[in-house]
Amino acid sequence: MARAMRACALLSLLVFATSAWAQKLLVDILTEPCQPTEEGALNFTEQFNKSAENVFYQSVLASWTYNTNITDYNMDKEKWNATHMFHVSDEFFTSLNLIPMPQEFWDKSMLTKPENGRDVVCHASAWDFYNRKDFRIKMCTEVNMVDLFTIHHEMGHIEYYLQYKDQPVPFRYGANPGFHEAIGDVLALSVSTPKHLKDIGLLENVEDDKESTMNYLLNMALQKIAFLPFGYLIDLWRWRVFSGETTPEQYNFDWWYLRTKYQGICPGVPRTKKDFDAGAKYHIPANTPYIRYFVSFVIQFQFHKALCNASGHTGPLHTCDIYKSTAAGNLLAKALQKGSSRPWPEVLQEIVGTPSMSAKPLMEYFEPITEWLKEQNQKNNEILGWPEYSWTPPIPDGYPVDIDKITDIKKAEEFLAEFNDTSEEIIYKYNDAYWKYNTNITDYNDQLQQKAYLQWANHSKEFGLRAQQFDKDAFQDESIRRQLEKISLIGSAALPKTDLKEFNAIISKMETIYSVAKVCWNGDQDCSLLDPDLTGIMAMSRDYKELEYVWEGWRNASGRTMRQDYIRYVELSNEAARLNGFPDNGALWRSYYDTKTFEADIERIYKELQPLYRNLHAYVRRKLLDTYGQNHINTKGAIPAHLLGNMWAQSWINIYDLVVPYPSAPKIDATPTMLKQKWNATHMFHIADEFFTSLNLIPMPQEFWDKSMMTKPEDGRAVVCHPSAWDFGNRKDFRIKMCTVVNMDDLVTIHHEMGHVEYFMQYKDQPVPFRDGANPGFHEAIGDVLALSVSTPKHLKEIGLLEKVDDNEASEINFLLKMALDKIAFLPFAYLMDQWRWKVFDGRISSTEYNKQWWNLRLKYQGLCSPTPRTEKDFDPGAKYHIPSDVSYIRYFVSFVIQFQFHKAMCDKAGHTGPLHKCDVYKSKAAGDLMADMMSLGSSKPWQDAMEKITGQRNMSAESLLEYFQPLTTWLKKENENEVLGWPEYDWSPYLQPDVQERELVDFLGMKLPSSNAEAGQWILLVIALVLCVGLIAMACKLPKQKKHDMPQNSLAMDKAMSI
Ligand SMILES: [Zn+2]
Repeated sequence: MARAMRACALLSLLVFATSAWAQKLLVDILTEPCQPTEEGALNFTEQFNKSAENVFYQSVLASWTYNTNITDYNMDKEKWNATHMFHVSDEFFTSLNLIPMPQEFWDKSMLTKPENGRDVVCHASAWDFYNRKDFRIKMCTEVNMVDLFTIHHEMGHIEYYLQYKDQPVPFRYGANPGFHEAIGDVLALSVSTPKHLKDIGLLENVEDDKESTMNYLLNMALQKIAFLPFGYLIDLWRWRVFSGETTPEQYNFDWWYLRTKYQGICPGVPRTKKDFDAGAKYHIPANTPYIRYFVSFVIQFQFHKALCNASGHTGPLHTCDIYKSTAAGNLLAKALQKGSSRPWPEVLQEIVGTPSMSAKPLMEYFEPITEWLKEQNQKNNEILGWPEYSWTPPIPDGYPVDIDKITDIKKAEEFLAEFNDTSEEIIYKYNDAYWKYNTNITDYNDQLQQKAYLQWANHSKEFGLRAQQFDKDAFQDESIRRQLEKISLIGSAALPKTDLKEFNAIISKMETIYSVAKVCWNGDQDCSLLDPDLTGIMAMSRDYKELEYVWEGWRNASGRTMRQDYIRYVELSNEAARLNGFPDNGALWRSYYDTKTFEADIERIYKELQPLYRNLHAYVRRKLLDTYGQNHINTKGAIPAHLLGNMWAQSWINIYDLVVPYPSAPKIDATPTMLKQKWNATHMFHIADEFFTSLNLIPMPQEFWDKSMMTKPEDGRAVVCHPSAWDFGNRKDFRIKMCTVVNMDDLVTIHHEMGHVEYFMQYKDQPVPFRDGANPGFHEAIGDVLALSVSTPKHLKEIGLLEKVDDNEASEINFLLKMALDKIAFLPFAYLMDQWRWKVFDGRISSTEYNKQWWNLRLKYQGLCSPTPRTEKDFDPGAKYHIPSDVSYIRYFVSFVIQFQFHKAMCDKAGHTGPLHKCDVYKSKAAGDLMADMMSLGSSKPWQDAMEKITGQRNMSAESLLEYFQPLTTWLKKENENEVLGWPEYDWSPYLQPDVQERELVDFLGMKLPSSNAEAGQWILLVIALVLCVGLIAMACKLPKQKKHDMPQNSLAMDKAMSI
């Protein structure tokens, strides 16, 4: 895999040099590897000659020949006929002291096409007749360079036969099939050098300038490098077919998925399930494994290098010619004689000195052209790879496509009516079962819930498949078209029954691992769940080692144990995505935002926010230095991830007390007043409802008050406390489920959840496929927008939670910094969560690098480092809820950006003047109407239309967010005047500081451990830390229940309800 990826990188470089069609044809045709001991009688060449592609073949071949400085012209002399070409090749083999072709070979081979009219299989092949003396080549030789190389290739097979002919029959094979393909090619690498061509009279002079070298190497790359991804994917496709992972329905889709992914090639005209393009390649119908050619193309360079060394070659690898080196020949012969009597790594070791395949010599050979291509591509500002992977060339006029799809508008209307009539009931039943399970967790309720889920999945699949039969482009009516598109997308329901079951079981298993994971002290004596204990310690403790113990313990118990399941989850979710017509699950997730440039837009917005984040980061880092000292904090490095008051460092609000800018000015906290005034959950919900109605929005209906779960039941039932908002799909039943605690945070959360319910109610009369947010970020933003008003000191005073509003700079900065610890600290985290998954889903991150790449992103975006060493046994992404529970996360990034755009638009409408962070839209009907207009669209229009309705323009933008925080930005910049922004000492790690270990060992043990015992030392430290911490932990656990500020988790149940 890794090797293939490197080759791919070089292939990307080639994009500059060749147009896509030339690449395709070169790959398909010019590098057609031949077949040894081929018994099939398919007349490939003849069939091929009839095909239209041959026209291209000829022209590409012409241009290929023309573009080389070795012309076939020189061969066109009297003496260059087939026999002479074979003798030239034979002479190369014997010059190395290898075995010459025996007399029988010359007598019995078929070197040219017979002229007596016989039909023959022209496909070049080498034959071993197994009697130890009869070996032949069959080939319709033409006098040109390509065939001269092919002769060397075929003769390489014969040489191998000759060398191992005295082995017992079972060992008369190549060490592995790739070895057999490589031998002749290795020699051809010498033959094709300009130096050698001159030696054999095919070149008049050797130009030793850079231009000729580049021409030569690019020519080689078109053969060798262009081939590699193709050589890999042919069998990758078949492995998936044979394992059942690719079902017959997906044969053609998966073929093109791999062609695009590995080769960067797209079909010239539309392809469908009915096509079978894999079968248009000889080796597929001929039942011949193909990975041997990939192996051969890699190891032939390893051989080449080893033989060159043996021959005493100096200088660049691509100039080496081993001609006449008996040392090289003897080395090769020794390996060939073994046949398959020894395992191939042993044979490889003997020749090249290492037992494993390696792309290094190949990369060395192409090094000059790699550099040159890099330069060219940089100069031309080329984009490497194919980020617009879904682009295809325009369909030619009159090309028959979708001819069998339904275009009858009446049928479409009937179908949609049927879907809308039948869906509400199914959605209600599923929600009802899922609600019962969430508010009373029993095995019985779990079974009922799973049954209801499968019913819903069947329903979506049935209608989804029917919707796919309509030709959507045939309908003028945008609403019909859009509904059909949305119904066609069926997510995981697309999976075959057994896969669907497995998929749900895996998610359910990972969720369970997550929710029962515990960190223990004193062996297994004292164990704590994430909530409330571990969350509480992370928020409240200021003890470095204690935080480290909990941080690492949580990751050992959660992520680490689900790593294998996650690999399978990735496979299955990609499978489902492909069945929905997407190349991978990340692409499916991004499609919710129907924007072609979504990834680039997010990156651009992130860049706009980065200066503010870096200022916040530098300021907080300095304050942490005051608390933890320079052994733990480096003011030019990343911040250890466990010191920010939150298990994932996604919100830093819990360390507000450590970083508060003006400790003597008021810190706005309404919680004490709420407790003093004896607020309860119901009152908090009514306060939120009152805010919505003050804006002329729809009040929560009676059923909401009757059926919601606002507090944790006291009858001993186990419930899912995680806050969520529910749409039962019947246009009247809407609920919130939450274990409310009386504090300011939960008041904000209630507004957030009620925002979801308000959205549900606003679009309830839309057709079922449109009962959704304009995009997932919109749904998350509504309640938060209102909470921005509620959190202002002005509003808190208005609802009796603050006695007075201090209008001075100190309290203003205190307020804004608190908001920033929540809103700004969160953004890079929200971004990297899905960036990691996008890369996992499309293969840019392989399963062997899950954790390493996770920490690369944590470092790059958040400026965080791990407090303890991490390995690939760990799976730290899995220690965050949304990864095991299959919930996409970029919605929260989008929400955190657009909620400020909405806030500003509403404040303008409400007639607010003054700084944005002071705005409170309470009681503004105008602002409320603006929002209601947007929400009532549901997802019936592209989100850009909804955005325009509320803000007057169509883009996501960080402008309003930056305006809101402007006073803080100015203040932080001044505060950070002498700070280094960012983390230039990026490889600094707290656990690699020698003085840390030394100091603590001296402090605790009075002795020093040598560095080789560092690991043991860490263990000792852990035990010490453990003993010392027990007391502190016991104290921490007695603290009042901690703030649980993980707003982004709130929407899981809503997601399940929403995704219908
Ligand atoms: Zn939410």
